[in-house]
Amino acid sequence: MRLKIAIQKSGRLSDKSLDLLNKCGLEYTRSKNSLFCYGRNLPIDLLLMRNDDIPKLLLGGVCDLGIVGENIETEYSLEPVYNGEEAERHSLSKLRSLGFGQCRLSLAGPKETEFRNVEQLEGSRIATSYPNTTREFFKRQGVGVKVTELAGSVEIAPGLGIADYIVDLVSTGSTLEANKLDEWAVILESRAALYQPNSPLNSEKQALLDRLLQRLDGVLQARESKYVMLHAPKDHIQAITDLLPGVDTPTVLPLQGSDDRVAVHAVCTESVFWEHLESLKEAGASSILVLPVEKMLA
Ligand code: ATP
Repeated sequence: MRLKIAIQKSGRLSDKSLDLLNKCGLEYTRSKNSLFCYGRNLPIDLLLMRNDDIPKLLLGGVCDLGIVGENIETEYSLEPVYNGEEAERHSLSKLRSLGFGQCRLSLAGPKETEFRNVEQLEGSRIATSYPNTTREFFKRQGVGVKVTELAGSVEIAPGLGIADYIVDLVSTGSTLEANKLDEWAVILESRAALYQPNSPLNSEKQALLDRLLQRLDGVLQARESKYVMLHAPKDHIQAITDLLPGVDTPTVLPLQGSDDRVAVHAVCTESVFWEHLESLKEAGASSILVLPVEKMLA
């Protein structure tokens, strides 16, 4: 019995997906054809696939888990509604949001066009690699448009006269800017997530998945967490603790040769910004150290 996880073979999500699984302690031997990675220390293997194929493989039972952007899952879930016989959406269960691959699927158009509302786009041509999500968006808005599907380079469609406007993935907006397009509306916010089909796993696989999720939660939590060490006046411990983001119970230790100051150690479970450190200093803290946390197990 082995658990199979599909991840993107090469692209924006592949390195981060592999890195995350490595941080969970999984080690792999890559096969010659390099589409399969054998789990050396746990019975968890990887299938390296094209992004868009991952939801299909999950529903087809070829793999048990998959890491893919929420944008891909949404597009695939609408496939039966816009291209199939059935009215029911495909559905996968999202187990965890993974905190990378952030982007948004946005409506954009030429800078010279003044955008007031979606209604003004009635009857226009929209180019996109996400036809189902785009159709769903305009249907919900009650606006009729002609959707043209392009596999890539969507942003050049208005310039080439293939379409009037586009719906495309944006992260920094620099590609839109380079093509003289403005972002008008966000249709969907997305980040990478771990999915599984809705059907239950057998008990052995479920136990393995629970173990993986526990490690994953530890890694995800550790990413946000910081270990803070500082010196504080004894009678300000509560005020200082209140300023540490996400801390309940700090460790308080005596300081050699000092009666009125103590050392405070605490794990902050939220991001620690410079503003927090400045407030701590104002409240009397000194010798403030902020260290990364590598792993956590609650
Ligand atoms: P594949 O060849 O595997 O089908 P792809 O060309 O569809 O890959 P990539 O460009 O590698 O995909 O992007 C993979 C995922 O990364 C996207 O589906 C999305 O979830 C996320 N992503 C984050 N930022 C962006 C961005 N600016 N443009 C495109 N995708 C982004």
